[in-house]
Amino acid sequence: MRWVDPNGPGLSRSGGAGPSDHKAITLEHQTVMVPILNHASALSPYSAQVRPGGAAATLFRAGEPIADITFPPQPHFYRLSTADGVPYWKIATLHATDVLATTVLQTCMRYGNRETACQFCAIGQSLAAKSTIPEKTPEQLAEVASAAARLDGVKHVVLTTGTPRTADRGAQVLADCARAIKAASGLPLQAQCEPPADFGWFERLRAAGVDSLGLHLEAVTERVRQRIMPGKAEVPVGVYLEAFASAVRVFGRGQVSTYILAGLGDSREEILEMCERLVGLGVYPFVVPFVPIAGTALEDEPPPEPFFLRDTLDGVAAILARHELRSSDIKAGCGRCGACSTLKAREVPRA
Ligand code: SF4
Repeated sequence: MRWVDPNGPGLSRSGGAGPSDHKAITLEHQTVMVPILNHASALSPYSAQVRPGGAAATLFRAGEPIADITFPPQPHFYRLSTADGVPYWKIATLHATDVLATTVLQTCMRYGNRETACQFCAIGQSLAAKSTIPEKTPEQLAEVASAAARLDGVKHVVLTTGTPRTADRGAQVLADCARAIKAASGLPLQAQCEPPADFGWFERLRAAGVDSLGLHLEAVTERVRQRIMPGKAEVPVGVYLEAFASAVRVFGRGQVSTYILAGLGDSREEILEMCERLVGLGVYPFVVPFVPIAGTALEDEPPPEPFFLRDTLDGVAAILARHELRSSDIKAGCGRCGACSTLKAREVPRA
């Protein structure tokens, strides 16, 4: 979508992990993250014209007005800073309407080297732009989470991380941050990391206050994984499947999830076959459209075809319905939020 606002894109941020180049918009009670800053959005038939006052916009398709949309205002906690002068918005950001999200370690052992980097990833961009800090401490995150819950009604927290060189793959820093956030705010938490070498970390994360866990495959076939994410593909899908089974034993059915980016080269059938296996294990497969983020190796790739996405997401929703797995049962995290996909809107509501 093209965003037309004389005051700029507001809450959108270029670069970073998660939904970069996006803006949260609400259309008929559904909040979705829509790319507005990448190359593909400049070619989109959709545009949003912000109305005077800046709280709402009109959505156009090919120049014709088709809907009214709203978008979250700047959260109150963005105006605060820590005692040592770090603005809260550099420590954690508001995602969609009620999620506090942060990348605890803003560096990754795989980033910055063509041989190992995930080609879709922009984790270094927000750091280079000084819109975040390299490492967030448990104390900083506890302070920001308390303020975000108190001032802006944040309901759950996503802790993700770049992958460090240690065998725990970041689980230790995630556990330390989860413990501090939980003690200060009581908010439900999702932690996201690569599978640690020792699956005993799942128990330690749970004990630290993590409510749900994300282990993100990104692509489902070794063919696509090796082409798009050669470093991360060194951990084969088989290891992820073992990690999923182990994590579900600790966190419970439906409290472990994975991100799958539709549009990187896996076919609909390949994605659905993997989703069937994952759901059978008790894992929620959060299938989202691949977004070619500006400044990444894939910035000029076309976004996925709408019909491919529709058919794939409808297929995933049918698998979820058959196994009675629902995003609304996830205690915290991306699957619960759902704003980076339309999967949640396709789920069959509980009778
Ligand atoms: S789905 Fe996850 S990454 Fe996307 S807006 Fe929600 S919390 Fe953020």
